[in-house]
Amino acid sequence: MALIIQKYGGTSVANAERVKEVAKRVVKYKKAGHDVIVVVSAPAGRTDALIKRAYELSDTPNKREFDMLLTSGEQISIASLAIAVSELGEKAVSLNAFQVNFKTTSAHTKAKIIDIDTELIQEKLNEGNVVVFAGFQGITKNNEITTLGRGGSDTTAVALGAALNADEVEIYTDVDGVYTADPRVVKEAKKIKTISYQEMLELAASGAKVLHPRSVEIAAKYGIKIHLRSSFDDSTGTIVENKKTIDEIESQNINTKGDAMEKVKIVGITSSKNEGRITLFGVPDRPGIASKVFSRLAKSKINTDIILQSSSINKELNNISFTVKSDDLKEAVAISEQIKEKIGAEGVSYEEKIAKVSVVGIGLKTHYETTSEIFDTLAENNINIDMISCSEINVSCIIREEDVDKAVNALHKRFIEID
Ligand code: ASP
Ligand code: MG
Repeated sequence: MALIIQKYGGTSVANAERVKEVAKRVVKYKKAGHDVIVVVSAPAGRTDALIKRAYELSDTPNKREFDMLLTSGEQISIASLAIAVSELGEKAVSLNAFQVNFKTTSAHTKAKIIDIDTELIQEKLNEGNVVVFAGFQGITKNNEITTLGRGGSDTTAVALGAALNADEVEIYTDVDGVYTADPRVVKEAKKIKTISYQEMLELAASGAKVLHPRSVEIAAKYGIKIHLRSSFDDSTGTIVENKKTIDEIESQNINTKGDAMEKVKIVGITSSKNEGRITLFGVPDRPGIASKVFSRLAKSKINTDIILQSSSINKELNNISFTVKSDDLKEAVAISEQIKEKIGAEGVSYEEKIAKVSVVGIGLKTHYETTSEIFDTLAENNINIDMISCSEINVSCIIREEDVDKAVNALHKRFIEID
């Protein structure tokens, strides 16, 4: 008997028919003798509809009320699933964040998990119930309702897994795993069987939307295996876990001979379209300027991604460029205009339609030939690179939005379709 945590996304609980299908799967696990905790998202489209409602009522909806409104979506799903499971003859109980003291910070709309009280959940399991828990929501120490940010139910599920010491968390979704590129863009994209936390984090951060990055961080920290799979069939999906030990590698006959050992293994090509770039030009070259610019942006909770500072010819002035998500562009431009005045920069320019394409694989940084092959591939396809950033496991290039699908296909062909 194991403790199984299953999380079902919005499309898996979109309507009564889908909820019944989920209930059947849950009951199958329960009947096999396992303890089952199910975390669910709001029915597909519900959270978007609630957000729309909030903005129909106000341009700046109060964040406390916003979270109160949004958490109602998940409550539809937990009660529906508990009813459906009971209907199949198994005991089931729905629980929300308030009932289990699922404590978070007070940062409404992007709260972080602090602590989970597992007592009630354990008690309900001991009584033979399937526990159906509301994803995405939490409560502050003052019992205010919070949410964890869009897509946060994955994080709820993995956090519960950590708190209850589960061996594995199954994340059921409408795709059957993580792919080497978005299968809608690249016909030859392949399903990845196993992937390390680090690689998965990098894929998620650079555009792959299958898993909430914070859920992967928690899984890595507590060593929880994630099985990402489809709720529409029984096929094995993608396992996210620590990299294999040498014994496992040997027992699976993975090639460790020749140059295979030190070759970079590219796991995937990702892209993200909703990016904007801002440049502050003619910025005085003295200590403390970058700190002023980025602390001001951080204060407004604007995440910057790629940052580039280049010195101009006379060496006394710099240009600082950075990218932000499209949603934040307007605000970031306004802030940059204020900063320009403060630091005596010459001007601010921005570009709306840019995209990022990323090649992800462990060891990229020390394999300069791979990095140059990435640039060659883009050049051969006549794609202009605007900005570049390299890390240990990720090379990202900012390019024009219209070139992005071509870039992903070309890079996939060069680095993934070879073996
Ligand atoms: N219902 C929330 C959302 O749509 C949380 C989730 O789906 O994970 O963002
Ligand atoms: Mg979701």
